[in-house]
Amino acid sequence: MPRVIIIGSGIAGLFAALELSDAGYDVLVVTKQRPEDSSTNWAQGGIAAILDQTDNSGIESHITDTLACGDGQCDEEVVRVVVSEAGDRIRDLLSIGVSFEKAGEEFHFAKEGGHSTARILHAKDATGKEIESALNNEVSRRENIELRPMTLAVDLIQRKHGAIEEGICGIWCLNLDDDTMTTELADAIMIATGGAGKLWAKTTNPPVATGDGLAMAHRAGACVKDMAFVQFHPTALMITDERPFLITEALRGAGGVLLDDEGLATHLKERGDPAPLSFTLEYSTKGSLATRDIVARACDNVIKRSGADHVWLVCDHLDTEELQSSFPTITERLQRHGLILGKDPLPVAPAAHYMVGGLDVDLQGRVQTSDSTVIPGLYGIGEVACTGMHGANRLASNSLLEGVVFAQRAARHIITELPSSLSQSPDWLADGLQELLEHSPLRHDLESLQATMTDDVGLVRRFSRLKRALRRLNLLSDEVDLVWSTCRPSRDLIELRNLILVATLIAQDALQRTQNHGLHFNADLV
Ligand SMILES: Cc1cc2nc3c(=O)[nH]c(=O)nc-3n(C[C@H](O)[C@H](O)[C@H](O)COP(=O)(O)OP(=O)(O)OC[C@H]3O[C@@H](n4cnc5c(N)ncnc54)[C@H](O)[C@@H]3O)c2cc1C
Repeated sequence: MPRVIIIGSGIAGLFAALELSDAGYDVLVVTKQRPEDSSTNWAQGGIAAILDQTDNSGIESHITDTLACGDGQCDEEVVRVVVSEAGDRIRDLLSIGVSFEKAGEEFHFAKEGGHSTARILHAKDATGKEIESALNNEVSRRENIELRPMTLAVDLIQRKHGAIEEGICGIWCLNLDDDTMTTELADAIMIATGGAGKLWAKTTNPPVATGDGLAMAHRAGACVKDMAFVQFHPTALMITDERPFLITEALRGAGGVLLDDEGLATHLKERGDPAPLSFTLEYSTKGSLATRDIVARACDNVIKRSGADHVWLVCDHLDTEELQSSFPTITERLQRHGLILGKDPLPVAPAAHYMVGGLDVDLQGRVQTSDSTVIPGLYGIGEVACTGMHGANRLASNSLLEGVVFAQRAARHIITELPSSLSQSPDWLADGLQELLEHSPLRHDLESLQATMTDDVGLVRRFSRLKRALRRLNLLSDEVDLVWSTCRPSRDLIELRNLILVATLIAQDALQRTQNHGLHFNADLV
């Protein structure tokens, strides 16, 4: 039986592993921390889906909302495929034990920003955890899947026939428990490494989100697409010295309203207000429930004008008990900081959240080169891939859906099309490389990278700032290349090298754009 390596254990990687396992394939899943360490595990709001495939108006309305949010940049064929296959994939998730919230006998559907109706399946406010743990449980039951934690994929191994690159036949990995390098061969490699939120000082992403898969595929000749489109979530909880914590959009779907300092002062004076008026209404008639790009820029604008580091999310006009029962994860997190959901105003600000751009893949998840040929044996699924589904802006709760649909499609393609061709590959060569003795320069380089991305490649951009960012990124890249060529790879070094490459691809794409769309906003183009 052919062997497939999957890099990453989020929704995309684990779902693909199960599909391949069902077909009798040998699967190795490598993941750089614990199996559950992923953005998937942190997803709160839910997964958008029309379950009834004969519900044409429901499907059309989901497609229309997705296209509208994508600001004219979505690939409509991809959107139609993903939305139409949603019901089947949700039934697959249910069959392995995922449990979504119900109201009586029926599923309870929530509503989020940009959705014209309630169509989001959820497990209270911990949907990702529910999905991730069901997938991990199922994977652990399969004898033909090996899930190897603490294993960091470093680079892809390319198969060569004479001078011709023939595709990808394996990966080099760093075992983080004992610092050894290993070579793993396979007939196909699926990259499911998620996003790169660590590029910015404030992110909702877990620390594993360092763009590794995107960088290693790009080094192997993969084309990337739409890198300028980076989604900043408008409402991350800002508590001094704490990592930003996502406050799901579903809370605004339930009636939460964004206020500036002045709005809050008025609201507090006039307690009993049925629903306070948000400053976001100046930017969209949908107010706090406009799409994320609009709400995030509105918050950023208010924050820059006021000099504060946050705006306020208020919910005290809503039913406290009902809120706390619907959002137990957020309630518990707020309690740690002495805040009560449904009573206290919450300090929130935008934080880097989701990478819309990524590896250019086709409808089967096959990674493309710049001349639109595929790289044999290489697939990209989940957040690391750019399928065209999200266009210039991702609609809330569409990414878990895209991840699961493309995981299935890519796995199916491997099962139906891939010949077995395991070949011999070189081991990692470490001769002449020394141990990295001082780690502090790498830490400072990471801080400098995050400062550059935050200041110059954030929510609002300018040509001069993007050029400045690229000059700085070039310096950082030279520094890290020097260390790379002389030292054994460490986790810090590998991640920094990847982050700098992904940052450069984002800044380059942003700089060459002559029009603003969705998440890319260059103030010089207004
Ligand atoms: C806080 C938060 C809330 C969200 N809420 C929602 C929501 O409600 N609905 C929705 O649709 N989307 C949501 N999203 C987005 C969504 O969760 C992600 O886009 C999606 O889970 C990505 O899945 P994935 O399988 O592609 O990657 P991930 O789930 O991020 O998994 C990536 C995996 O790759 C591993 N990895 C990375 N690099 C390497 C390497 N070099 N070697 C080995 N392993 C590696 C990681 O350890 C991890 O296991 C949210 C995201 C966040 C951060």
